Amino acid sequence: MEPIDVAIVGGGPAGAYCAYNLAENGIYPTIFDHSHPREKPCGGLISPLAQELFPFLKKLPIEHVKIEIVYLVSPSGRKFSINMKRKEAICVSRLEFDLFLLKMAMDKGAEWRKERVVEVKREGKIWKIKTDKNVYSSKKIVGADGVNSIVRSKVTKPLKAVDKGVCYGYFAEGLEDEAISFHFLPRRNGYIWIIPRKKNVSIGIGCAEILHPSQLKKELDTFIRKNYPKIKIVSKWTALIPNIKKVETFCSPTAGPSWILIGDAAGHAHPISGEGILYALMDGELAAQAIMHNNPLSFERLWRCTYGLNLLLSGKLQKWVYRRTFSELYCMYIKLSSLIR
Ligand SMILES: Cc1cc2nc3c(=O)[nH]c(=O)nc-3n(C[C@H](O)[C@H](O)[C@H](O)COP(=O)(O)OP(=O)(O)OC[C@H]3O[C@@H](n4cnc5c(N)ncnc54)[C@H](O)[C@@H]3O)c2cc1C
Repeated sequence: MEPIDVAIVGGGPAGAYCAYNLAENGIYPTIFDHSHPREKPCGGLISPLAQELFPFLKKLPIEHVKIEIVYLVSPSGRKFSINMKRKEAICVSRLEFDLFLLKMAMDKGAEWRKERVVEVKREGKIWKIKTDKNVYSSKKIVGADGVNSIVRSKVTKPLKAVDKGVCYGYFAEGLEDEAISFHFLPRRNGYIWIIPRKKNVSIGIGCAEILHPSQLKKELDTFIRKNYPKIKIVSKWTALIPNIKKVETFCSPTAGPSWILIGDAAGHAHPISGEGILYALMDGELAAQAIMHNNPLSFERLWRCTYGLNLLLSGKLQKWVYRRTFSELYCMYIKLSSLIR
């Protein structure tokens, strides 16, 4: 069997958008992802910046909520309202959003195989990809398989616990009309969020340190009992998110002559806000550019020049932002900068 030209492991936003860009330019990749359709534990918040950079996000043909006002609650309990009328954020369900992106890629000619990759290895210039159903060969491989990437562990070191954050939360009913809000935690590097979507609300707690989820659950449950005792929990989840703090990890390679890591697999989520969809889409586009120029290695330079400094500085700033005095000031700063905009 002829080897596949480009195999993409993972069909989340990073993998699907990379596939879309490749297929639009005449390279038809194969995406391996066993999971769809599925609801990923996520706020599903898409920022104004993401919409500016990827205008198709402004016209999503799936259900979404437009966010005109966001509340930031500082550790001391001060509430700041941020008016988003001029630059709206939107909230989506990841079940629908991720499927939409995958379909976009398939409509252009990418192939999706509903298979879980269980092993990846290099044999000479060819990648051998073993799934739960078959074995494939590929000339190039893109690791878009999330924070615990199997491809990453083959091509470089897996993300260490210190470079991940942990989240615990619920999809719940009864708060759909609530405004979106972020509540900075007085004693931890993180926040509680309430993000309403069309059918439910994502209410969760995220922390830049690795804690046992039971510690987060306790804190979130206390918050819910105090503020929203009547909500109905539909499902609960625990999830990891990249949160690169070590410069060493930031400097580790994300591309080689025949491989690229993108999105969460590359560790690319914002260390302070946790925003990851934007970085997944940017990586998908840049990785496709690198492959189209037959130079996967150039992905390294492309992402570092585009937003590398922003990620590095935010990683350094993070521990300050979450200190109590700083998070008070940070909330004020965000409020002021929204007024200036
Ligand atoms: C609790 C939480 C809340 C968040 N909220 C937001 C938010 O509101 N806004 C925002 O911008 N970002 C948010 N993020 C971050 C965002 O979810 C991620 O950064 C983004 O999904 C990264 O996209 P990705 O495609 O790289 O990875 P993923 O979305 O994780 O997709 C990876 C895909 O790879 C597949 N996969 C994994 N292993 C294999 C395998 N072995 N074989 C085949 N397929 C495999 C998975 O099934 C999955 O579909 C949040 C994250 C968490 C954890």
